Amino acid sequence: MYSEIINNIIDDTKINKQKNSKLKNNYIVEPNVTTNNTIKSIADNIINNPPVENNNIEINNAEINNTEVSPFLFTLQNFILDIENKNKQKNKEYLTNVKNISAYDISSNCIRETLFKLMGCPVEDYKDIWLPIMMRSFLGNAIHDFIQSICTCFTESEISLRVPSKRLSVRIDNLINNNVLVEIKSCPYTDYSKIINSKKPRISDFKQVLLYRWMLHNCLDEIRSQPRNTLRTNFPKLENYNIKYIQFIYVAHDLISSDIDSISEAIKFVSKVKKTLDSKKNKFFFITPLTLDLNQIDVTEFENEIIEHVNLINYCLDNNIIPNKSNKFVKPDHCFFCLYSKVCSTV
Ligand code: SF4
Repeated sequence: MYSEIINNIIDDTKINKQKNSKLKNNYIVEPNVTTNNTIKSIADNIINNPPVENNNIEINNAEINNTEVSPFLFTLQNFILDIENKNKQKNKEYLTNVKNISAYDISSNCIRETLFKLMGCPVEDYKDIWLPIMMRSFLGNAIHDFIQSICTCFTESEISLRVPSKRLSVRIDNLINNNVLVEIKSCPYTDYSKIINSKKPRISDFKQVLLYRWMLHNCLDEIRSQPRNTLRTNFPKLENYNIKYIQFIYVAHDLISSDIDSISEAIKFVSKVKKTLDSKKNKFFFITPLTLDLNQIDVTEFENEIIEHVNLINYCLDNNIIPNKSNKFVKPDHCFFCLYSKVCSTV
């Protein structure tokens, strides 16, 4: 009986409205009323009261009129097309308007890609090769918002740092007083697992915060002299900073990863992470703060490389040149995903 109801519910879209309203009365299942053993077993799990048997529900198939009504439903294929359009639109908007060097340009991106972007080189197709990136970045933003809207320990959040003389424009997640810089990083479980086991941040994340630190320490006057109405977020409040600690708040948010081939492998993977972080006692096992004491770490080499990278981008832009492919800031492992691969092959 229940399966018949289910079949008819699925076919409901094909039933004309008049017939549908007639049938509707037959489909209503009152609370604590069950139609057969299947519902009974479901209800037993939900409510403690013994369900009352009701055998009066009958479906009169003769009343079903199979008049076709085209339903307009969600389909994955159409949704992927929507994502594709949104992705192209977003990339186009960003790439045609960007004027400054971002933190990711220094921490992660290929220098040729950064230069093609800042020189306004043509892009053949604005669509990213890996479209799930759209959902991943949406999740990342939601995680940032969640933590920032709840946490009371940050003294400053979403701080814009613009240094026009270096063409730099970045945004710090959070500061605590004048000496702690906090960066929220959402990541897949594969990265998260490596981070909690090694107790080390990803190199690109480390470079990113060192760039912020360098800017706060060396360019604060220029940053604070920018007209506030040109900044989209907050302005650094203090007149000086002396960043001694870097905190990463790592949050594992998904399992979409080329390192994992199946759902069962993914479940095993997460179980292992849960075990490592004792999820019985730690309900927020998917969030881990990692604190670095910069009194204990020599960051000179990283900092020099960051400055060299920023200066080289500026030099190339001033002279309208592109470094060759053997340059140390070129990232061949990014080529597969790069939107400038066509123009890059010609230079
Ligand atoms: S195709 Fe490769 S080398 Fe060329 S800009 Fe893109 S990432 Fe860099």
